[in-house]
Amino acid sequence: MAMPSSAKYVIIGAGIHGLSTAWHLAEGLKASGKGSGEDVLILDKSGIAAGASGIACGVVRNNYFQPAMRKLMAHSVGVWESDPEAFSYHSVGYMQISAECMRENVTSIYEQQKEIGYDSTFVEGTEDTASYMKDIFSDWQATGVTSVLHEKQGGYANNTAAMYGLATKAENAGVRIMSGITVTGFVMNSGSDSVKAVETDKGVIECERVVVALGPWVKTIWDMLDLPKTIEIKGADGVMHSGIPMWRYWALEEGTLGIDPNLQKMNNGKMPPVIHVDSDAPLLSDVDGSVITDKLWGIYYKPDFNFGGIQGGAMPYPVEKDADDVQVDPYGVDSPEFLVDDNFAHMWCSALAFCQKRFEGQIKYYKNEPSGGIGCFTPDSFPVFDNFKDNVYIIADSNHGYKMIGVGKLVAEEMLGQPSELLKPFSFDRYARGELHPVSNSPYPWS
Ligand SMILES: Cc1cc2nc3c(=O)[nH]c(=O)nc-3n(C[C@H](O)[C@H](O)[C@H](O)COP(=O)(O)OP(=O)(O)OC[C@H]3O[C@@H](n4cnc5c(N)ncnc54)[C@H](O)[C@@H]3O)c2cc1C
Repeated sequence: MAMPSSAKYVIIGAGIHGLSTAWHLAEGLKASGKGSGEDVLILDKSGIAAGASGIACGVVRNNYFQPAMRKLMAHSVGVWESDPEAFSYHSVGYMQISAECMRENVTSIYEQQKEIGYDSTFVEGTEDTASYMKDIFSDWQATGVTSVLHEKQGGYANNTAAMYGLATKAENAGVRIMSGITVTGFVMNSGSDSVKAVETDKGVIECERVVVALGPWVKTIWDMLDLPKTIEIKGADGVMHSGIPMWRYWALEEGTLGIDPNLQKMNNGKMPPVIHVDSDAPLLSDVDGSVITDKLWGIYYKPDFNFGGIQGGAMPYPVEKDADDVQVDPYGVDSPEFLVDDNFAHMWCSALAFCQKRFEGQIKYYKNEPSGGIGCFTPDSFPVFDNFKDNVYIIADSNHGYKMIGVGKLVAEEMLGQPSELLKPFSFDRYARGELHPVSNSPYPWS
């Protein structure tokens, strides 16, 4: 495809957010008579699904302690459900099985799910939790858990296949997707704070609006736009805290136990929901019985034919470096720095065995292949969806975002003049105004 010299809308990044925004923008332009998909151009330095969206576990859940996140996720589940086949989406549901210290938080999640009509069941108490789980998996044996939130909606999608499904929808609507083009800077309009053109390694493209959907690379474009490296945050006590770094990275640890995914079928012979367990019982090694941890720990897993086994992960760890010094490239499984190691395999496989007897002694089937990747997080670990400069929309999902297929729809609607109540709680000025999202007792930075 020849390099265009202009495009009305330039979207940077062909991951979940760039593709979803482009598709919905194209449809919205056509429906409103304001243009067509040909006005929309996606640029990606590598290609479709080359970033976090192409390596994500693909879990789609509603289980968030923050009301604004829950509402947004419920909206996104609606988009996943709109075409499961195209998005390679498995609507198997999701289970959050929690330690006592999380029960109160999860109770409130359940109550609010009822309010927004999100289908779920909540079970409380040690014995009732065990019996609910045993009705599903006869070999359930996890301890240190006292509640189950069973979301009947949600599940998971096959990471790359879903991106190609989205790309097909965008291209069918007239969007152009150009791979192998790196954005290197911006030309600003003289006398205003708006972008006039996007500079790339293959030439300059004039545009009216820019959408930045860069996942772990968001900081590179943030810096190119001269946005602040540190920000001020108003605390709950009303005190202003200054000099808070805008970005930091966490490393996500995931892997696959290379056994037949069918072995994780439920008692009724059907494929199970995604399982997420947070336990406060000591986690012992399935290899030698030694204590791996006696602190709150968590894992998630699902049978996945795409990954070829039982796939899942554990708590991420913070990358203890200044964001300026973190090497995002080469990304994902090509990174020499951020891959999971034997400690992860030992912990995760032991935790699987802790939860279900069928996984005891299975660590030998753990797939010894590169996995994991880093995510770029905001100061409060929740997304920032907002306009910057006069004509740049930044989608910085703080690594929550594979499940958020609907954000692009809302962003497209906003760009076409329909402000979104669902996106409002994720504005950048929430930090200065002290309108932060509530924090849960989960061991994850994203729940
Ligand atoms: C290991 C792992 C597991 C995860 N599991 C889940 C999960 O189960 N559920 C969930 O909801 N979320 C999950 N996430 C988070 C989720 O994957 C991300 O939040 C989401 O995919 C980000 O999407 P994106 O479109 O913003 O960015 P990406 O998918 O990262 O896409 C960004 C694109 O920008 C391109 N790019 C970068 N720089 C430039 C440039 N200068 N010029 C042009 N193009 C550029 C890249 O090539 C890339 O294709 C996981 C993340 C990781 C790392």
